[in-house]
Amino acid sequence: MVRGRFLISGETVLKNGCVVVEGDRIVDVGPFDEMRKRYGCDVVLGDEWKVVAPGLINCHYHSREQLAQTLFPDGLGEEEWFSRYCLPYHEALGPDEERLAFQLALYSMALNGITAFADGGIVYPSTTLEALEAIPLRCFTSTWCWDVPETLHRTVDEALYELEQLYQTFHGRMNGLLRVCATPISTETCSEELLEEVFSWSRNKGLKTHIHAASFIEEFNRSVVKRGKAPVEYLAEKRLLNKDTVLLHAIHLSENDVKLIGDSGAAAVCCPMSALTKGKGLALKGKYPELLRNGVRVGLGADGAPSSHHTDMLRLAALFAGIFRDARMDAKAVSAVEAWNAATSTAASVLGIDHETGSLEKGKKADIILLDLRRPAFTPSSDILKSLVFSATGDSVDTVIVDGRVVVYHREIKGFDCEKVYEYACEAVSNLERNLAC
Ligand SMILES: [Zn+2]
Repeated sequence: MVRGRFLISGETVLKNGCVVVEGDRIVDVGPFDEMRKRYGCDVVLGDEWKVVAPGLINCHYHSREQLAQTLFPDGLGEEEWFSRYCLPYHEALGPDEERLAFQLALYSMALNGITAFADGGIVYPSTTLEALEAIPLRCFTSTWCWDVPETLHRTVDEALYELEQLYQTFHGRMNGLLRVCATPISTETCSEELLEEVFSWSRNKGLKTHIHAASFIEEFNRSVVKRGKAPVEYLAEKRLLNKDTVLLHAIHLSENDVKLIGDSGAAAVCCPMSALTKGKGLALKGKYPELLRNGVRVGLGADGAPSSHHTDMLRLAALFAGIFRDARMDAKAVSAVEAWNAATSTAASVLGIDHETGSLEKGKKADIILLDLRRPAFTPSSDILKSLVFSATGDSVDTVIVDGRVVVYHREIKGFDCEKVYEYACEAVSNLERNLAC
């Protein structure tokens, strides 16, 4: 039984609410007193100083980049960031570093109340994914998948082989916590053949395909010059835009792109902190209010650590709501509820798991967080959703339950030696710094 002074189920706030959990499922939701009488459960997590909320969902992350959180110089635009720093970093990363980066990423996400996330591609799944045993979050994993750049280059056959191997070995493991998605990295770094083959592969498996699209202005302009089409138009023309397509960043969109995305049922993931760090033009050019008005499912993503610098979905939700209000001089551009949904229920739909997580409802998986009300962010609060979106930060997360298992309790992960991991990370980053001469 998980209780709190406020319980958030969808957009409804229940006072003195309680979630009844059996195994990995929610079996009931209702007032605490009523649930206690009905189920007589004596194991209770939480108290009157807690908010009970669904686990937060990070729709886009690059766990490999965790060691580079502050490794690259400040003030880099996407072009220089990518070619001069990011590519050499990825090239330098071996299996030990990738696993360490993944561990740190899991630790950061768990402490911020993230119970599910989608990763942009790993290279050494057999060792890296072992880290989920210690911090079992709901994870969509994928292989590194592109065939244009020389770094981590894959041929079409290699990319498909690696995806199939990943799927056969890992999809559905850990009681379904671990799943596979396809991540052809972008329309620019994948050939037409690779895109078509990978989309076809994931369609046949019933999986989502995540792809960076219209992420920065140079990419948009090159697509127009090379193909006579914007990235989204190109995907639509190739019949690769559909309800199972997840467009990452999706910043530089025309009105026609917004219509194409809306008509196709594709989803979009906004990564506000990443855009702010690199000056991508989200405030100036982003069309997320229009996407929302067109019924497009919008989730939030942190993106990799060197551009997001944190995995705090509450801070991202505040940015998502705030950026467009200011840019449009319209306080109604994105509501607090839309921002909250983009980190919970809609995010679950973007990843294709809304039937089992994203809200606290009977029959769904028990992915639950408890936040501590004894903070200035929640005092006073006459609108708890507004407090969550605009006032609270991830460090008010006290307890995290994933698939019915308590992963974080009073901000600690049992059996996880964070000091040792910090020590290894400092050592690995020093080595990387020397090798990359950052
Ligand atoms: Zn990305």
